[in-house]
Amino acid sequence: MSVLVFVEGFNGEIKKSSLEAATYGYQVAQQLGTSATAVAIGEVHEDALAKLGEQGISKVLYDADSRLNDFVADAYVKVIAKAAQQENAKVLVFSNSNIGAAVGAKLAVRLNGSLATNVTTLPKTDGGFIVTRSVFSGKAFAEVNLTSDVKIIAVKKNALEIANAGSGAATIEKFSAELTDADFVAAPKETIMQDTSGGVLLTEAEIVVSGGRGLKGPENWHLVEDLAKALGAATACSKPVADLDWRPHHEHVGQTGIAVSPNLYIAIGISGAIQHLAGVNSSKVIVVINKDPEAPFFKAADYGIVGDAFDVVPKLIEAARAL
Ligand code: FAD
Repeated sequence: MSVLVFVEGFNGEIKKSSLEAATYGYQVAQQLGTSATAVAIGEVHEDALAKLGEQGISKVLYDADSRLNDFVADAYVKVIAKAAQQENAKVLVFSNSNIGAAVGAKLAVRLNGSLATNVTTLPKTDGGFIVTRSVFSGKAFAEVNLTSDVKIIAVKKNALEIANAGSGAATIEKFSAELTDADFVAAPKETIMQDTSGGVLLTEAEIVVSGGRGLKGPENWHLVEDLAKALGAATACSKPVADLDWRPHHEHVGQTGIAVSPNLYIAIGISGAIQHLAGVNSSKVIVVINKDPEAPFFKAADYGIVGDAFDVVPKLIEAARAL
């Protein structure tokens, strides 16, 4: 019996959220007195896979089939299910990313397992397998007991630190689920948003600088971009900004957009409507810049600046560049 972690690549490297999942998988394996194996799919550098040993992963099953470079849910599910079968894995761990959540649900059906998404804690294993999940857009927590033989856990991003278990390089084993072309033809190719701003993947970013309608128009977006560049951050926006075509839709965060959980979220000229907060309130630190002291976002903020964005943001850019 082992724990199997599905790791996702981006630009050949392992995503930060998958390193978190690997850390989690290793810690569960420690609890259960077993080892943690990873499965990787598509284009990922082998040295990046070997480095998973730092998170405690002992072995990586690597399916380098180039047809898997784009996400195809059913094909990914087949690969992971076969890896789980080979390793006799009873606990499967993913990041709660778009891809992780999609394959986790399908795998739960296929393996007759139980799935818990947005998990924030290691399981309590005395008298069950109880994990805590973040629910209602991060407003509450629920404890769930996974009672089926196969347990599938999607770990909430940025909920735990990446540990360095220091156990050397993981061994890489070439792996194939012997997929046929039919596995790709039958299923439409899914498009999972992987867009980046300034080379930083929004869903993985440690810092996000986000703009709202208070910025008046797309011609003023250099304020968001310059601050993001100075901080090494990704850029994001509120829904109306994307609806107005000031920014592309893949930057829209919130209930109907992308959910982010960076260490720092800087909101500029955004009112803080509940639908916007739903996608950003898991951020560790929220900084709000708004000229209206009554803006609802201030209630969710750790730090607030009441002021005109056109005065405040250039000063912040200057300060960030000087860091
Ligand atoms: P506004 O509400 O217009 O706020 C602009 C803010 O800028 C104001 O607080 C104002 O005081 C401030 N401001 C103005 N000028 C300046 C200045 N010079 N300097 C500093 N501050 C200034 N919204 C999302 O963002 N994401 C979602 O996923 C989402 N999903 C939705 C789903 C549904 C079903 C519905 C009904 C709505 C959804 N919305 C979503 C829309 C949401 O309700 C708000 O309308 C939206 O978030 C407001 O965007 P905003 O804050 O950019 O604009």
